[in-house]
Amino acid sequence: MIAIRLCSICQRAKRVNLIIRDKNICLECEKALVETTSTQKSYGYYMDAVKKLLYNSAN
Ligand SMILES: [Zn+2]
Repeated sequence: MIAIRLCSICQRAKRVNLIIRDKNICLECEKALVETTSTQKSYGYYMDAVKKLLYNSAN
């Protein structure tokens, strides 16, 4: 059975890939995170998304 959950980064319903603190990060976003370097424009976007994921989900 394939589990579909909302990706906490792109906010789309995606296949479960990586669960951090009970939030899904889809394969595309995981790849984007890994491949994005600090010199790219999207770096800030992804870092913010990950920070929210890690720190705002405590409650
Ligand atoms: Zn995603």
